[in-house]
Amino acid sequence: MADDTTSGAGLDLGVPTAARVYDVMLNGKDNYAIDRQVAQASLEVMPELKQIAIHNREMLHRVVRYLAEEEGITQFFDLGSGLPTARNTHEVAQEVNPDAKVVYVDIDPLVLVHGHAILAENANTRVVTADIRNPQEILEHPDVTALIDFGKPVCVMLVGILHHLLDEENPGGIVETLRDAAVPGSYFFITNFTRLGDAPESAELEKVLLSQLGTGRVRTPEELETYFEGLELLSPGLVPLPLWRPDGIVRDSTSIAARFMTGGVGRKP
Ligand code: SAM
Repeated sequence: MADDTTSGAGLDLGVPTAARVYDVMLNGKDNYAIDRQVAQASLEVMPELKQIAIHNREMLHRVVRYLAEEEGITQFFDLGSGLPTARNTHEVAQEVNPDAKVVYVDIDPLVLVHGHAILAENANTRVVTADIRNPQEILEHPDVTALIDFGKPVCVMLVGILHHLLDEENPGGIVETLRDAAVPGSYFFITNFTRLGDAPESAELEKVLLSQLGTGRVRTPEELETYFEGLELLSPGLVPLPLWRPDGIVRDSTSIAARFMTGGVGRKP
């Protein structure tokens, strides 16, 4: 666990952050007592959250590998990338193509601190601290444009981030701005908490996240489909994470752990 008395990089250790709470779910070490409290309160409502985080990472690995290997995508723009954790986007993409470019963007300054340490020697990867609610600024950020050429196809990744935006923060508008900036042949990879009609805990979890973290919005499948407007959704569509082109037999696709997050990949025609 991180040292709770450590401060630096403008970090406020009395306030939980989504990146660090997610790190708790993935059994990471870059989190503080306040983050562990929020994680614990969330796990009491939905004990499956740890497994859901694992499913989310596994889908990320499958999608990045597929796009790098099969579709020849060489640029990955990972928004709300989270703290560096086992098998990050650049590791998967650069395993396929050592020249693949990856830009990580996250609002949490700790992501940059850890990213710098890990990526000091990787010229094809950068970390930017920025707020996705200002998408135009991100698109013009010098560290983004240094690596990503928006004249070429790019994979825009919004993995587990849009549910941290409230409706009034217009997540659909953010996707639209990014979609307009991407050339045809670009891909959009999105995963999100999904409201389950048969699981009242999804509404309960939303309350915990909103009250303790200040963010958290669990959306219906219909709401999530609007993020893919103007894109061709790749098969098998917007599905429970383990069902997106699984590597092997899927043993569980009906539990809350399997269904509470859905994800899909859309191609700009
Ligand atoms: N994408 C990673 C994954 O799926 O494994 C991490 C997902 S984590 C649940 C969500 C991340 O979104 C956190 O690291 C959080 O800091 C980041 N985030 C939340 N709101 C953001 C915003 N407005 N701008 C940029 N990043 C944001």
